[in-house]
Amino acid sequence: MSISAQQTGQKKGQKKIAIIGAGCAGWSLAARADQLSASRIELFKKQDNHASHSWGFWQMPWLLDAVSQTRKKWNKWQIITHNGCAEHHSATHPYCSLQSDVWIKSCSQKFLSAKTQTSITEVPVRKTEKNRVITSEDKSDFDVIYDSRPPVADTNILLQHFRGLEIRAAKPVFNPEVAILMDFRVSQENGIHFMYVLGYDEYTALVESTFFSLSPHHDEVYEAAIREYLNTVFHLDDFEIIHSESGVIPMGRVSRVDSNPFLLAIGSNAGTIRPSSGYAFSFIQKQIEQFTSQNTNPKSPHKKYDLWMDSVFLSVLKSNPEKAPNLFLKLAKYLSGDAFARFLSGDAKITDYAFVIYSMPKWLFICHAFKVIVGSQKRTTR
Ligand SMILES: Cc1cc2nc3c(=O)[nH]c(=O)nc-3n(C[C@H](O)[C@H](O)[C@H](O)COP(=O)(O)OP(=O)(O)OC[C@H]3O[C@@H](n4cnc5c(N)ncnc54)[C@H](O)[C@@H]3O)c2cc1C
Repeated sequence: MSISAQQTGQKKGQKKIAIIGAGCAGWSLAARADQLSASRIELFKKQDNHASHSWGFWQMPWLLDAVSQTRKKWNKWQIITHNGCAEHHSATHPYCSLQSDVWIKSCSQKFLSAKTQTSITEVPVRKTEKNRVITSEDKSDFDVIYDSRPPVADTNILLQHFRGLEIRAAKPVFNPEVAILMDFRVSQENGIHFMYVLGYDEYTALVESTFFSLSPHHDEVYEAAIREYLNTVFHLDDFEIIHSESGVIPMGRVSRVDSNPFLLAIGSNAGTIRPSSGYAFSFIQKQIEQFTSQNTNPKSPHKKYDLWMDSVFLSVLKSNPEKAPNLFLKLAKYLSGDAFARFLSGDAKITDYAFVIYSMPKWLFICHAFKVIVGSQKRTTR
């Protein structure tokens, strides 16, 4: 099925562009149709039902459009363990929550009302393994193909896997002024585990059970953990589930789904997921802003030393999962709210890096830095 958009006939360029995949990156790029100097842009969308979910990020200069559409912002956030709580405050970089359906709707309105000729082609699920847009006949149809299909993750890497429930409580228990980004006061038996609680108002919150481990769990594991947490920490057992969301995000090296150089990878397929945190929304917007405004090919939005620090951090976490709660708490305690937001958004200053390094146990990190260097040398000599 092909849905044609408004065609004004006003050509801005001669390029015919295909965008494969209508997720976060595909839609975010499609919304910039008029900046792509193309005569025609076709978005290839898989015929699947994406349930809406929330994207969290810190307000940054490249996110103003997304910030204007957020459901809620928090100027305060916490990291909690059995040993204490770090609370951050930032007036400049509040933590924001954006609903994916709101973002995609606004992107699709911009795409379909662009001056450039735009269309959406729905790809039947059964055809998606060998997508027809990347067959040789189609290659000649397009001058540029952006590929946002999900990447292939290395085996044996940590995964961030989670299930969240948006609930409406029978009594007012949530604090809508403070987002809880990590509360480690939950069982650590099945992997590094914390709760993420976004209180939208005193009654309504997204409560997410998140693990870092090598494989995902059954839905019941996350749901049982959420119920136990709500009961223990909020003394709440009477609530209605409004909506649920879940995901599995690779924390480590990923490879492009298709290495064909004709395809320009974007989004998670181009390594935008920040390995140590699983955050991707902010980096996808940064990547798209960079290459559309500079009229270049997409490149990684991450700095090389951020990726290197992340691999050392992940090596520590993988070998010492029991240390995770205190490492995150220490990191949060040594950084100000602004520095924490900048560091996790890939926009850290030199002084922020100094505090990050200072906050971590030196000997442990030096050992793992060597391990990472030896591992990468082995990979390059193979
Ligand atoms: C539930 C959930 C919550 C998340 N929360 C956060 C958060 O709070 N903050 C944050 O920064 N990140 C978050 N993330 C991570 C990240 O933002 C997402 O993974 C992001 O969607 C990645 O965007 P993408 O476009 O690269 O991939 P996707 O959004 O996965 O899009 C890929 C698209 O390609 C399509 N596709 C696949 N094969 C084909 C094919 N053959 N032909 C055509 N289309 C195809 C898929 O249908 C999909 O629509 C979350 C992820 C999930 C799943």
